[in-house]
Amino acid sequence: LEKKFPVYGPFGKWLGTSSHVHAVTDVSFRLHEGETYGLVGESGSGKSTTGRTVLGLLPPTGGQVRYRDRNLVELSKAEMNKLRKEIQLVFQDTYSSLNPRKRIGSILEEPLIIHKLGDKAERRRRVFDILRTVGLQPEHYYRYPHEFSGGQRQRLGLARALILNPKLMICDEPVSALDVSIQSQILNMLRDLQRELGLTLLFITHDIGVVRYISDRIGIMYLGRIVEEAPTEALFDRPLHPYTRALFSAVPDFARKTLKKRVILQGEIPSPLSPPSGCVFHTRCPHATETCRSEVPELRELGEGRRVACHLA
Ligand code: SF4
Ligand code: MG
Repeated sequence: LEKKFPVYGPFGKWLGTSSHVHAVTDVSFRLHEGETYGLVGESGSGKSTTGRTVLGLLPPTGGQVRYRDRNLVELSKAEMNKLRKEIQLVFQDTYSSLNPRKRIGSILEEPLIIHKLGDKAERRRRVFDILRTVGLQPEHYYRYPHEFSGGQRQRLGLARALILNPKLMICDEPVSALDVSIQSQILNMLRDLQRELGLTLLFITHDIGVVRYISDRIGIMYLGRIVEEAPTEALFDRPLHPYTRALFSAVPDFARKTLKKRVILQGEIPSPLSPPSGCVFHTRCPHATETCRSEVPELRELGEGRRVACHLA
């Protein structure tokens, strides 16, 4: 159903109301510790919904979110709040959730206070450390959010997510609002931090180039389902799902090298609120058959860590 939903940021901070929540169905994937899993899709594919469900911000109507042998869906609010330390969200517009009247130092210190970590001196030291970690300066401690550039603001967003030493970070389009040159700075930093800190990242984006750069494995979403999943190299060497091929063929550089023929999609993406029967992609797939219209293709294992949901694969 399409509904208005309250959206909360890290530490239960009220971020406003989301305009759309798209249904996701049968989405199942694993994050391995220390990897970056890229979730790609066009807007309305359900990738943000999936990320927010993992985080416990949107309660699913069924299924499980397992994290270290616990089903997050069943946890009480108090238990989930404790886990919030370990699972953090960074999004495109993190900046908008920073209190404009507070100095950066106290904004960054806040989560430490909420989780009762350290005394005043320790918290202060931790804030200075984290500023350095994300490439900001000690003097930024005393500044206000509006004094920062777009790239710096996203560094602040990262700092706030990282200050509690999370294990898992869900990054929802974290660089999409930035200029390309700033994008690559932030992506490089994220990649370095991920390695240094052993973070596990769920990286959500619509940008094929970005996801290729950052991810170890990738899941492709279309209309609320994962239609293909593979290690990054394998996926780009040989995309198997017709939708993946179409998506990639919209990237000229890539299309020239790997795909012999451009696949141009017919028609519009259907409404996620009433997805087509059978294979959700059948209304636009150049290979659709009668079976595709009636039978949902399962996301099948094809070996070498690949899974594809297509009757022809
Ligand atoms: Fe196309 Fe059929 Fe495969 Fe769906 S199942 S992607 S419609 S060939
Ligand atoms: Mg989104």
